[in-house]
Amino acid sequence: MVKETKFYDQLGVSPDASETELKKAYRKLALKYHPDKNPDAGDKFKEISHAYEVLSDAQRRDVYDRFGEAGLSGDGGMGGGMGMSAEDLFSQIFGGGMPRRQPSGPRRGKDMMHQLRVSLEDLFKGKTSKLALQKHVICKGCDGKGGKEGAVRTCNACNGQGVRVTIRQMGPMVQQFQSTCDECRGEGEIINQKDKCKVCSGRKVVQERKVLEVHIDKGMRAGQRIEFKGEADQAPGIIPGDVVIVIDEKPHEYFRRRDDDLYYDAKVDLLTALAGGQIAINHLDNRQLIVNILPGEVIRPDEVKAVLGEGMPAYRHHNRGNLYIKFSVEFPADNWATPEQLAGLESILPARPALPPPAGKEVEEAVLAVLDAAQQSRANREKSSYDDDDDDEGHHGPGVQCAQQ
Ligand SMILES: [Zn+2]
Ligand SMILES: [Zn+2]
Repeated sequence: MVKETKFYDQLGVSPDASETELKKAYRKLALKYHPDKNPDAGDKFKEISHAYEVLSDAQRRDVYDRFGEAGLSGDGGMGGGMGMSAEDLFSQIFGGGMPRRQPSGPRRGKDMMHQLRVSLEDLFKGKTSKLALQKHVICKGCDGKGGKEGAVRTCNACNGQGVRVTIRQMGPMVQQFQSTCDECRGEGEIINQKDKCKVCSGRKVVQERKVLEVHIDKGMRAGQRIEFKGEADQAPGIIPGDVVIVIDEKPHEYFRRRDDDLYYDAKVDLLTALAGGQIAINHLDNRQLIVNILPGEVIRPDEVKAVLGEGMPAYRHHNRGNLYIKFSVEFPADNWATPEQLAGLESILPARPALPPPAGKEVEEAVLAVLDAAQQSRANREKSSYDDDDDDEGHHGPGVQCAQQ
């Protein structure tokens, strides 16, 4: 006889339902009341999920049968503590990516994560790196048993569980306590000192150095993962986790990357900017890329142009992104030409635009001064406050207000 039947009723099964019947009932109801399908069902989905979560765990079902819902208060109850969310449970049952947790089956060990710093050159060309790591492997001296055949015995105090569960009834309250077994210190097994394996001193595992070959494919990106299935720490009775290598991209001295595109800052002299010429870019695969600026093509300061198909290779597809080049134009020093030569420019360059008509009655002329250090820092101060609100750049000209103080 069970103490109460609420959870069974919620799932529409009888208290002697088998595990399969419970699961079937839950599947049917979960699909019916899942918030995605039936947003008006209120807490129904949570309720059936909680009921199934309790009844599908043999130990918790036993506690529920004997003490009712109150007996479960110690293990967190609905939505808290050990309980998982209704959504998690749903994806677990319907294979939404979460591993099925089977109390009797082998556990899966932790994954081992490693960051691998990779240069942009290597991400461009691809590379195989060797990565050495230390990991635990099952001791070959004892096959992971920790001692001679027969020397290892199950701890009687906890039946090999490593934990002891005590159920205590205090008046109407029933509480469940779980504590590490002190007989076996949570191991679930006891081995006598003299019978312990000499190779691993009863630890069942030994340290081993393992070298992995990591294939960095062309076009891989920061944050991308390379997985080595089952290469993480071994331990008796568990399925080893994966070694996961996470790519970390080293910043490059000249190139910046965004997705499959590359960005490069180039300087050109004024003659090349106006009359054409060439610039040389040392590319990531050791090629020198000569970029032609055609006669007649004008390069303006801060202008961005692109060399199509000279960016990063795309991962797997290997078609290439673009190389965006931002130009700065280097102007010649003062007095670079004679007055006669400068006059010659007038015949080549577009004519000077006319000055606007005078705003007031008086017209006065001025010359530009070269800034001394103090003036330079004042000029920069104005510039930085101007840069701060570059959103509305252009609405108020620089220096206008300050010039009057
Ligand atoms: Zn051993
Ligand atoms: Zn024990």
